[in-house]
Amino acid sequence: MKAAIIVCDGMADRPIKELGGKTPLEAAKTPNMDTLAKRGICGIADPVYPGIRAGSDTSHLAILGYDPFKTYTGRGPLEAVGMGIELEEGDAVFRCNFATIDGNVITDRRAGRIRETEDLAKIINGISIPGARIIFKSVEYRGSLVLRGEGLSGRVSDSDPHAPGKPIEKVKALDDTPEAKRTADIANEFTSKVKEALRDSSPANMLILRGCGIKPDIESLKEKRGIDGACIATTAIIKGIASLVGMEVVQAEHDYTDRIKQGLNVLESHDFLLMNIKEADEAAHDRDYKRKIKVIEQIDAALGPFLDFAQNNYVAIMSDHTTPVSFGDHTGDPVPVVIAGPEVRTDGVTKFDERSAAKGGLCRLNSSEVLPIMLNLMNRTEKFGA
Ligand code: ZN
Ligand code: ZN
Repeated sequence: MKAAIIVCDGMADRPIKELGGKTPLEAAKTPNMDTLAKRGICGIADPVYPGIRAGSDTSHLAILGYDPFKTYTGRGPLEAVGMGIELEEGDAVFRCNFATIDGNVITDRRAGRIRETEDLAKIINGISIPGARIIFKSVEYRGSLVLRGEGLSGRVSDSDPHAPGKPIEKVKALDDTPEAKRTADIANEFTSKVKEALRDSSPANMLILRGCGIKPDIESLKEKRGIDGACIATTAIIKGIASLVGMEVVQAEHDYTDRIKQGLNVLESHDFLLMNIKEADEAAHDRDYKRKIKVIEQIDAALGPFLDFAQNNYVAIMSDHTTPVSFGDHTGDPVPVVIAGPEVRTDGVTKFDERSAAKGGLCRLNSSEVLPIMLNLMNRTEKFGA
């Protein structure tokens, strides 16, 4: 028996005036999700904690059953792993952009969205700083910088001023530890060496750093739950989380409807699949409710094969967080979730959406409880007590 969690990124929403007070999920025609709601048990889940606005990173840690407050150390290390860098204990990792500077002032935070950065990456990897090894990887204008050495910390600020027209900032320690001070010093020395090394380069003549974090100390899904998982996602940070917890990250099909079919193939060889479909979130960030409805309907149409899968296995459909079209970013509202499978105690819910799911038998739960609930239904959890 297998389990799949299909995350429709940012699908949950709030009532929209133009839709007569319906949410995009309520307005969309979703016969397959509705069938799963009828055959399953529904509820609403808090991505991290009621009212907390979760990112896709913290919300996916929760969906995989981890406590983001204990395991999340920043985006830096997750993105680096997603880019294929193998991290070691104690690594301090920044996200970076190649940028254009004039003097010390940023004129373009993305260096004209430069595409070819392989040679620049070689230059960066050639920089040496006493006390820390530099490991750098880039994809187009974005990159990951790993500082590897003794006594480093993730508690340092950004050199990225986050807006053009502003000078590059000094990286500062965010706490009083010698580790944070040391990491800030190394990052600043690195920054001046980058400036020197890229002096004659154009348009990318600087590398700006942000989102530093130390490699999280995290148990694998296999150790924690005894399951062998695979992940299909297109977002680097979600792939990073999956590979950090020891899941196999499968190269995702470009088209999200193909990706859903791909999921069933991947489940042939794994106990558990986490699939992320990010397109509804993108439509919501663009504040386009019509596109969001269309994406939801297309996802639903592709879900057909999972109705068969759920005859003998367990499938959950949920959103990782709410992304209201009216706000254009994530909010802390709970998300609808349905778990369907052979032995669920069905409830009276017949439609899958934010308000219908709230009346279901799962009631209000935390996203981190969905996977344990599924594993319990599969009789794959340990007894607590005698
Ligand atoms: Zn998300
Ligand atoms: Zn988003």
